[in-house]
Amino acid sequence: MDFIIVGAGCAGLVMAIQLRRRLPHARFVIYERASSLGGTWYYSSYPGCAVDMPCVTYSMSFDPSQTYRQWFPSQGEILQYLHHVASKYEIEKHLQLSTEVVKASWNDESKMWTVVYREPTTSKLLEQQSKFLISAIGQLVEPSYGGIQGLDRFTGGVLHCNHWDDSVTLEDKNVVVIGNGASGTQVVPSIVRRTKSLVQLIRTPQGYAERKNPTLSRFMLWMFKYVPLFLRAWRYWHFIKLESRFSQFRNNPQGEQIRRMNMQACWEHTKATAPEKYLDLLLPDYEADCKRIIGDFGYLNSLNAPNLRLIRDPVVQCEQAGVVTESGKRYAADVIIFATGYQSQWHYLDITGCKGMSLTQKWNNDITYHYQTTAVARFPNFFMLYGPNSAPPNMSAIYCFENYVDLILKLVEPVMEGREASVEVSPQAEEAFVERLRTTLEAGVWSSCRQRTKDPKRNVYMYPWSNTVMFRNTHLQDSKAWVYHKDVGKSL
Ligand SMILES: Cc1cc2nc3c(=O)[nH]c(=O)nc-3n(C[C@H](O)[C@H](O)[C@H](O)COP(=O)(O)OP(=O)(O)OC[C@H]3O[C@@H](n4cnc5c(N)ncnc54)[C@H](O)[C@@H]3O)c2cc1C
Repeated sequence: MDFIIVGAGCAGLVMAIQLRRRLPHARFVIYERASSLGGTWYYSSYPGCAVDMPCVTYSMSFDPSQTYRQWFPSQGEILQYLHHVASKYEIEKHLQLSTEVVKASWNDESKMWTVVYREPTTSKLLEQQSKFLISAIGQLVEPSYGGIQGLDRFTGGVLHCNHWDDSVTLEDKNVVVIGNGASGTQVVPSIVRRTKSLVQLIRTPQGYAERKNPTLSRFMLWMFKYVPLFLRAWRYWHFIKLESRFSQFRNNPQGEQIRRMNMQACWEHTKATAPEKYLDLLLPDYEADCKRIIGDFGYLNSLNAPNLRLIRDPVVQCEQAGVVTESGKRYAADVIIFATGYQSQWHYLDITGCKGMSLTQKWNNDITYHYQTTAVARFPNFFMLYGPNSAPPNMSAIYCFENYVDLILKLVEPVMEGREASVEVSPQAEEAFVERLRTTLEAGVWSSCRQRTKDPKRNVYMYPWSNTVMFRNTHLQDSKAWVYHKDVGKSL
């Protein structure tokens, strides 16, 4: 095998499709632990789930979606698009579903990865060798239940927005929603009318920005389909528009002013839209920092529903018939919906590189040790998509995947042509990159993140540079950073 890709979300699909388009003779397999492709967009099928990037940016540049119907496409539309591209580029025949990769180790002698995966029918552990290992396991992998105790004691239905189960019905049920982040804000307006009662229990107020989600007109859809240049031009225009807003992430007077103005707009929108009785619970009492502003697709208006109560009192535990909050109050529930996001641990793959070095060990003390978010010194022929510090703050993740896949395809060329046996980043280049990364994180709004951490060594989500810098770093690579080995049996 030439490539093993772990994960069939957007990132794994971009990698696989580009292999089909640009290295058509490469032999590859995608191992996906879920029973279908799509990753985030397969799991997060809760009512109201949608992307909050304009539709023209959330698709692959070489095959932009002509099938989205809304400016902010729904989960279903995105999943449909991902199935469409997978089928168009014949990815299904490379896809092994319900197959979890358990561990992988690099062999310095053979210059190959041995990947151990769980076979779906028998659950036996099997091995597959490959020249390259691509981790596309996503940044947010396991759902978090917010540390709430006693879930096993609750006898009603339990749903998590990021692992939704359609068999749990909400009709005429007493529902408790925990959380008011992006998913809590999308799910509440979509279900409140169906429920008998809905209690939303929250911890922190959020900044809500008005989001209109118009349906695309027939003329627009016709232009998308028959005038490809129109769609391409619109994508570029949006890129420039989003890029021009990057200065809001800088910790300087201009950045602070933009963030203050953004928060002011959120306050005004909240005051104009939400019921007055809830304003104390909804208006953020902190300065806008790296905490994301949430798109309001009808949430604030839905708080007017007569069967809804919004309460600022975080849940601490579940019991047989409902939940108990920090203040000791009890709320009965037939169904609890956790809108509590994902666990913040990092890499779930047990990966061993040169000389038995484990990735978990390497990152135990300092997770920012990587090069350009995609490679790790002493882990040859291994690349990550959406690795640490790779999420662009103001651009679609697909843009990021395409850039890194371009870089990977360039780096693997000499190995695929048989001129070299392996490629890895030099420890010196990694060290210099980590230094630049730290300085940039500290100079940006990310150093004040209350949601994540103040420790720069664990500040692992955001990409702190602009999208133009990401393009430059992935397309005009410093060739000295990369070391190739001709001979099997030698590495750094
Ligand atoms: C509600 C919501 C809204 C969002 N909105 C936006 C937005 O507006 N813009 C934006 O850019 N991003 C948005 N995102 C982020 C979104 O996650 C990314 O855009 C993108 O879908 C991530 O793709 P991925 O392939 O990296 O990861 P994922 O979609 O998480 O896919 C990873 C896949 O790897 C599989 N996997 C993991 N471990 C293993 C293993 N050991 N073995 C086998 N398979 C494994 C998982 O099952 C999964 O299918 C949003 C996310 C959510 C949840």
